[in-house]
Amino acid sequence: MKIVSSIKSGNYINGQVIDEDFETLDVISPLNGRTISSVYLSDASAVDRAVKTAQIAFGEWSSRTLKERVQIFFKFRALLEKHRDELIHLVHLENGKTMGESAAEVDKGIELCEFACSLPQIVNDEIQEVSKGVECRTSHVPLGVVASITPFNFPHMVPLWTIPNAIALGNCMVLKPSEMTPLSAILIAELLEKAGLPKGVLNVVNGGKEAVEAICDHPDIAAVSFVGSTKVAKIVYIRATSNLKRCAALGGAKNHLIVLDDAHVDMAASNIAASMAGCAGQRCMAASAMVAVGQVDHIVARLCEEAKKIVPGDNLGAVISKTAKERIERYITEAEAAGAKVLVDGRNTVVEGKEGGFYIAPTIIDYVSPDMNIAKEEVFGPVLAIIRTETVDEAIAIENSSNYGNAASVFTQSGGWARYIMDRVSAGMTGVNIGVPVPREPFSFGGWNESRFGSHDITGRSSIAFWTRLKKTTTKWNPEARTNWMS
Ligand code: NAD
Repeated sequence: MKIVSSIKSGNYINGQVIDEDFETLDVISPLNGRTISSVYLSDASAVDRAVKTAQIAFGEWSSRTLKERVQIFFKFRALLEKHRDELIHLVHLENGKTMGESAAEVDKGIELCEFACSLPQIVNDEIQEVSKGVECRTSHVPLGVVASITPFNFPHMVPLWTIPNAIALGNCMVLKPSEMTPLSAILIAELLEKAGLPKGVLNVVNGGKEAVEAICDHPDIAAVSFVGSTKVAKIVYIRATSNLKRCAALGGAKNHLIVLDDAHVDMAASNIAASMAGCAGQRCMAASAMVAVGQVDHIVARLCEEAKKIVPGDNLGAVISKTAKERIERYITEAEAAGAKVLVDGRNTVVEGKEGGFYIAPTIIDYVSPDMNIAKEEVFGPVLAIIRTETVDEAIAIENSSNYGNAASVFTQSGGWARYIMDRVSAGMTGVNIGVPVPREPFSFGGWNESRFGSHDITGRSSIAFWTRLKKTTTKWNPEARTNWMS
């Protein structure tokens, strides 16, 4: 299949893919371990050029009305559909997820774009007569130049968590995609330009730590959104806010699924298997720890059958790198050595014809104790650790002890227990009989605890407050209106 923009990964500044002088890093496809492109490791000078360009574009772009600005996103949505196959192929190639998962990611991007198109219906400014003849009104005003720093696991969707809403609300943006999966971002930028987005409104600066630090330090960037690991989310949040920027930094996760003995066996098994193995477990919403309450052997047995139907290279993609594969396998081996029982073992997987790829088959480990690393840390692979408990309260205590708090689900047919557990788990996104409880638009996406720093979610309605500031204007036209200290 032809990829329209070849496999470009230059910086994209002022509407052009730019050749730079920086060092480069190979971009490797996890599917087969082959180098497919290279990416610049930009320094602060590239960030500064992108910011200056965005500042110039901001004047005209922010002067348009919201209704005018979203017209670009209606056209962009049509282009996402038109170029759907290329976009899917690019995600598959650079990230290693299956074509089906890549299609779901691109389709989610379309949904995110639709939300931005609906902003004129959602951003409600208020007006009220606050004293006789005196009105007060609010307006949502863009911040200026903002930045979005994104991870490897959703190279198309996560940039579209931020680009449409931030830009439709009048901001100009510097996007810094993951250096491991930088390719989809350039195609997004090119399609937005085709949709009519003026030059300089969206700029893409590639790189790693140095570029991120330059974003956090740049005096003319008003807000930073970050999605990635908790370790880096903390660094970015502290650095950006100490430079007095607004910051929403979404971090890693350790999602618990609490399974009761009355759960619907087929529904629980298929949902849990899909959650732990989907996108090779590299989702911040993936099931990572199953807390089994009481006698649930019948569900575990069914779950193992489901996991064995998920085949690497067929309906299971690759993990991002050789290092990631080794890290994930180390967690399994350590847990086994500490006494856990590996029921389904995905280590040492090689896919015929893709011997250079980074594959791990689904892995289920039973009798994990809560103090093992595999029970506490983010593994980010197709691995499920089963922790056995006697009571619901014990299960809740295990979930509550996690530093993270992205997602938590319960599997039961009892409404009473479901409510009891949902009321007590410490997670921002919760589900009942749902393996991946992602709140779709217009609801907003964001976890609690060390899964999110800052006070806003990143998508949906909550993002409106993040990407704008409120101006309150009080007006009096009637000379007869009373004058007092209140007006
Ligand atoms: P990462 O933290 O390694 O990288 C994220 C971004 O930070 C990248 O753009 C990278 O270039 C940059 N970066 C890396 N190290 C840095 C450093 N020392 N200083 C400054 N910048 C640095 O994350 P990743 O491996 O790309 O993505 C996987 C992680 O992202 C997982 O932990 C996953 O849970 C998390 N994630 C969270 C969400 C969420 O919504 N909470 C969504 C997707 C992914």
